[in-house]
Amino acid sequence: MTKMIETNHRKNRLLILFVFLQICAVAALGQNSASIKMNVDATEAARNVLHTTLTIPVKPGPLGLFYPKWIPGEHSPTGPINDMVGLRLSGNGKSIPWTRDPVDMFGFHCEIPAGVSELEVAFDDASQPGTTMSARLARVKWNRVLVYPRGINSDAIRVDTSIKLPGGWKFSTALPVLRERRDEVEFKEVSLTELVDSPLIAGANFRRLTLMSTPLLHEMDIAADTPAALEVKPETLLGWQNLVKEAYALYGARHYRSYRFLLTLSDVGGSEGLEHHESSEDGVGEKALSDPGQLIDLGDLLGHEYTHSWNGKYRRPADLTTPDFEQPMHGDLLWVYEGLTEYLGKVLPARSGLWTPENFRESVAAVAAEMDNQSGRKWRPLVDTATAVQFTYSSPRAWMNYRRRVDYYFEGLLLWMEADVLIRRQSQGKLSLDDFCHKFHGGQDAGPMVRTYTFDDIVNTLNEVTPYDWRGFLNGRVNMIAPRAPLGGITNGGWKLVYDEKPNEEVKFNEQQRKFVNLTYSIGLIVSTEGVVLDVNPELPAAKAGLAPGMKIVGVNGRGWSVDALHDAIAATKNVPTPTELRIDNGSFQENYKLIYRGGERYPHLERDATKPDLLSEIIKPRAR
Ligand SMILES: [Zn+2]
Repeated sequence: MTKMIETNHRKNRLLILFVFLQICAVAALGQNSASIKMNVDATEAARNVLHTTLTIPVKPGPLGLFYPKWIPGEHSPTGPINDMVGLRLSGNGKSIPWTRDPVDMFGFHCEIPAGVSELEVAFDDASQPGTTMSARLARVKWNRVLVYPRGINSDAIRVDTSIKLPGGWKFSTALPVLRERRDEVEFKEVSLTELVDSPLIAGANFRRLTLMSTPLLHEMDIAADTPAALEVKPETLLGWQNLVKEAYALYGARHYRSYRFLLTLSDVGGSEGLEHHESSEDGVGEKALSDPGQLIDLGDLLGHEYTHSWNGKYRRPADLTTPDFEQPMHGDLLWVYEGLTEYLGKVLPARSGLWTPENFRESVAAVAAEMDNQSGRKWRPLVDTATAVQFTYSSPRAWMNYRRRVDYYFEGLLLWMEADVLIRRQSQGKLSLDDFCHKFHGGQDAGPMVRTYTFDDIVNTLNEVTPYDWRGFLNGRVNMIAPRAPLGGITNGGWKLVYDEKPNEEVKFNEQQRKFVNLTYSIGLIVSTEGVVLDVNPELPAAKAGLAPGMKIVGVNGRGWSVDALHDAIAATKNVPTPTELRIDNGSFQENYKLIYRGGERYPHLERDATKPDLLSEIIKPRAR
């Protein structure tokens, strides 16, 4: 289906002009569209290798080819160019030399000899172990296995794709299938835009669950490392079915022809969460459907990536909407694209029954506490974490509290929750952020399309729902330095952010998954289970005692390092007046540090404030049932 890009705003004119000039330039070379035939051989998936062969119609003369660099949904130049190996070009059976562009490493140049009308391109995608494949399953991202004639709009390139799978493996993708023969699948021709937006999963252990059959097909398609991992609890299946209904109740329209959750369960096949119009890549651990903590985490992931079909794919910031995979994206509105998705991605699992109300509150408490305790918020406005997405996404762990990270997700959640509560209060409970979503993301049921927006469109639609100084509200929270996190959604929603010694369930889950101890809210320290300091809050006691990332705790109050010894020592500070003694390795030197702290263990929770109506519980009430 053709994608329709609505460009009705001033900010988009530059983009239109740019695209126009680009099309003119390509047209001058005699090429403004292209048709590519691509055959992918995935039979060596267990070795993390995909082989690809492309046939591209060409004319004699110079030709530029491009490997996708800016990947939609990743908002960054993250195309895995280093995994492209074994590149060979040929025409009429003869090898054609190529050179790499000296400035843009994703570009290639060659000279097509006279008499050659078809260029054959072959290379391998040798992906890093643990990222996209395991011995029993594969996640095939088409952008990893293709190049295209440089400078042509990805909507104007047609691709005829086929794939050969390992024997007996089953697959799922949003791509329309033309025919299947044994382990070979041929797909109907689609645009390059649609192809890259429609990844495929395949695996030896496979299960297809229909979540809804009419009016539109919704499937949960699961590939797993073991047959046992495919077992789904009845309440989980019911929750997934509810998720589909709750999303429709929230938005009021769907912008896809069918939808597939492409779920992979593997501890080595790579963790993933990537949105598409008609599917989402959801890569989690092998035991995600049986382990209670991982199952809660999965609810969040599915809610988030599914929400992106509306917020991110259908409605997309104008400056994140690019004509190909070469033009840079701008991340300044990611607090909408990702922040609102982060919020709705937690509201929807709660409405669907995948989460309990307590799961929702513990998750919100963990986010609110982390944002409120980011020392970096004193120098860096929220918008800068989004504008700088090219490096904030891969920020190092050390000094993260001082640096801030991709806070546009988490603080975005808090500000959209605050907006939701504000609309509910202003309208005496008659309206909510759901009404904004209806207006902004709803409309008519239709196939995939893109409608771009700007900051002004957000402000205007909020004002259509409830007149308020939304420009001032958003400017203050997004563009200005704010020493405290926006907690108005919690406090005006009838709850308080409090700290006590009982571990927060989300904080605890993250500790187990990532093998660290999180003492951020007591002494301002995150330390690995081996004792290595991962981060400190420069304003709290651990940093004030002199600790820094990279140091290693080897002793606590005269005893050797253990996670329990550290927990016990911090818990005991309430009753013991003497400082905690820490023995530290700093490189090859050992030194003692004194930790001055009397607060005991502290973890964040939400506590009911009976003086105000409980709007947070209203927000997560089911709407579709
Ligand atoms: Zn996202």
